[in-house]
Amino acid sequence: MPSRAGWPTEAPCIDCGKRTEGLLLGERCPMCQVRRERHAGRLAGRIALGAAVLMAGYLAWRPLPGGTAGRVYAGVAVLITYLLVRKIAAVIAIQLLPDHTGTTE
Ligand SMILES: [Zn+2]
Repeated sequence: MPSRAGWPTEAPCIDCGKRTEGLLLGERCPMCQVRRERHAGRLAGRIALGAAVLMAGYLAWRPLPGGTAGRVYAGVAVLITYLLVRKIAAVIAIQLLPDHTGTTE
């Protein structure tokens, strides 16, 4: 394996085009990466909120067994739905977001 000494270690960011030391071709600079993660997080939060509202609506619509315990389990189910959907949506969104996102911030 050839040594990387002497190779250029500076490449343009694929989003903003700014040359950053230590960046390899086809990568994003740290600022663009953070901006992309924040955008994906906001999008995932909105999707998760919608999913939690749908879950709460479904649980409110159907009769819950167990009285108070049933309502507690329904609340836990809504919370778990929010957290799981947010995590999954964030992972998917960061892969599927188009380049040059967040330039209007
Ligand atoms: Zn960049």
